[in-house]
Amino acid sequence: LWQRCLSHIETRLPEKDVNLWLRPLEAHFGEDGLDLMAPNEVVRDQVERELRAPIANALSELGEQPRRIRVLVGGGRRSEAAEIDEGPALTDTKRHNLDSRYTFESFVQGKSNQIARAAAEQAADPENMAYNPLLIYGGVGLGKTHLMQSVGHRLLANNPRARIAYVRSEHFVNEMITAIRHNRMDQFKEHYRTLEALLIDDIQFFANKDRSQEEFFHTFNSLLEANQRIVITCDRFPKEVEGLEDRLKSRFSWGLSVAVEPPELETRVAILLSKAEAHNVDLPQEVAFFIAKRVRSNVRDLEGALHRLKASAQITGAPITVDFAKQALYDMLAVYDRLVTLENIQKTVAEYFKIRLADLLGKKRTRSIARPRQLAMALAKELTNHSLPEIGQGFGGRDHTTVLHACRKVKELRETDTRMDEDYVNLSRILTS
Ligand code: ADP
Ligand code: MG
Repeated sequence: LWQRCLSHIETRLPEKDVNLWLRPLEAHFGEDGLDLMAPNEVVRDQVERELRAPIANALSELGEQPRRIRVLVGGGRRSEAAEIDEGPALTDTKRHNLDSRYTFESFVQGKSNQIARAAAEQAADPENMAYNPLLIYGGVGLGKTHLMQSVGHRLLANNPRARIAYVRSEHFVNEMITAIRHNRMDQFKEHYRTLEALLIDDIQFFANKDRSQEEFFHTFNSLLEANQRIVITCDRFPKEVEGLEDRLKSRFSWGLSVAVEPPELETRVAILLSKAEAHNVDLPQEVAFFIAKRVRSNVRDLEGALHRLKASAQITGAPITVDFAKQALYDMLAVYDRLVTLENIQKTVAEYFKIRLADLLGKKRTRSIARPRQLAMALAKELTNHSLPEIGQGFGGRDHTTVLHACRKVKELRETDTRMDEDYVNLSRILTS
């Protein structure tokens, strides 16, 4: 079956990936699912991170749906990654289920997340119950879970015996269903209502699950009444989540809601460099910029890129350079490069300022046209891989010094003119989301 699965995957993925990551695996199909034995942790991590879904898909297309897929190193040792997925046992009150990597110390601060971070730090102060519950919301991969778990770690550092639980909403729901089935609702309630801090992740998952919302609402109230800490995350502002009860939404708004935004280039570079250090990857700054310029909207993808680089570098023994990164991340970067083109930038900027595209690219020098043009050129420099001469060429055959001047001017204006800065940020967000 595994062989068939491999042949199936081979038709979808680059041969290189299959040979590098999947061939070395040893497959064991058992009662409770599929165990894949990896020769080392590099392979395991890569498979966990990027190949799990293709494997599951291939199997299901072959008519097999193993109850679970585990990726393990060597002779049957449980992988940590697999363990994280299972959540705390109902009776095991010691297990808070926090990932040791997600701390304030490893969180890189930038403009995009500083408010959320400050709020989380306050929520981690047991003396300060001003912001309770704390709600952190924002798009995928922007550090919500990381911040939330940092709160947990900080609380535990202050009091190692504090009863803290980190739960994904999905897990909360599953656990509740199991509890109902086995007549263990009392235990379930007891478990959650006696916590000192509850960190509940991705509550958008509660949408349209009425019984779970009901139970969560009661848990929530009893914790709030007892003045216990609650931190929640959601992938958007909860008011916008359909199928979430109004009374829940209104409860959330009792505390503080803070957003995490996509990080700016400098923050992305800083995150990459800090993760590289944590993972012992020798990542030159130049390469960090190269990647961060392209991978823009999601920190998880940045990390994914770093892991790919690390794995390729370990296997080939080559130093990490821009060219090496281009090769190793070829398919991943292609997706991003396709996203923002000069044409796309020009069209978006013209629409944004309600001017004609022909004017944007033409010779007019009135400020209402020249400013947007400069902005568009600066955006092109930041968001694409084009050189200054190429950008000039693309903007009605201008000289590269004109582009350079535009970039400098925009930088300068953004520091003095908040309107300009806002326009720039808005536009780059529109272009990269
Ligand atoms: P979310 O819960 O918002 O989807 P996560 O918290 O899971 O995102 O973050 C995705 C990955 O990106 C995690 O590995 C996390 O450590 C990392 N990450 C996100 N933001 C930051 C940051 N500001 N500094 C360091 N790592 C970050
Ligand atoms: Mg998350």
